[in-house]
Amino acid sequence: MAVRRKLIVGNWKMNGSLAALAELDPMAAAAANCCDVDVGICPPFTLVAPAAARAPSLAIGGQDCHAAESGAHTGCVSVPMLKEAGAKIAITGHSERRADQHESNEDVRAKALSALSAGLLTIVCVGESAAQRDADEAVAVVTAQLAGSVPDETQTGELVVAYEPIWAIGTGKVATPADVAEMHTAIRAHLRSRFGAEGEGMRILYGGSVKADNAAELFAVPDVDGALVGGASLTAAQFVPIIEAAASAK
Ligand code: PEP
Repeated sequence: MAVRRKLIVGNWKMNGSLAALAELDPMAAAAANCCDVDVGICPPFTLVAPAAARAPSLAIGGQDCHAAESGAHTGCVSVPMLKEAGAKIAITGHSERRADQHESNEDVRAKALSALSAGLLTIVCVGESAAQRDADEAVAVVTAQLAGSVPDETQTGELVVAYEPIWAIGTGKVATPADVAEMHTAIRAHLRSRFGAEGEGMRILYGGSVKADNAAELFAVPDVDGALVGGASLTAAQFVPIIEAAASAK
């Protein structure tokens, strides 16, 4: 059976400042203590380079990337730019970008392919809305997102899937362990059918109101290989216990 190291990634969204980078110091210390856990932080683009310089033991990343390497795309940041700034991770297809920037599965797949081709750990986010879950469509919706958003070739980077039910993001509502188990099993089956043994080794994160007090329960669910954490990644006081919960998970 594939051994998958736990992975905890913080998504700072449009939060943070140079002063807030002091939070990285205790996070890096916790990551060093929890040597079986990989830890990353994705701050706003402007903080990627100083974050990477300050905390070389954390994997710093971008919350998005453009599919092209350069060109007339005002306001966008490419994968080579992220890499030059020290990024090791790219998040693609976050539901906030799918909604706010109208990103389609095709857009996400192109971004993910660019990031994977450059050797980044590439997180492809998927997740259903509350209405889709209520209509019993959650697994079908997520499976269709995977089919459309995950590139066929993973290239040199590492593909990671983050299951983030939209209704759980920033709301304090968390999917039940049974719902998470059902979805992660379906995601694993999809990855296995497309990528064979490689799909068995791909990490699947849960995201949506992960906090210190629910992390252990979530990490005990089979095929939950870690978490993508929004609000609780902004301070070390909240984020470090999540790293520690991952280290204690069997
Ligand atoms: C996220 O935005 O990826 C997320 C999971 O946010 P939160 O942890 O705040 O729900």
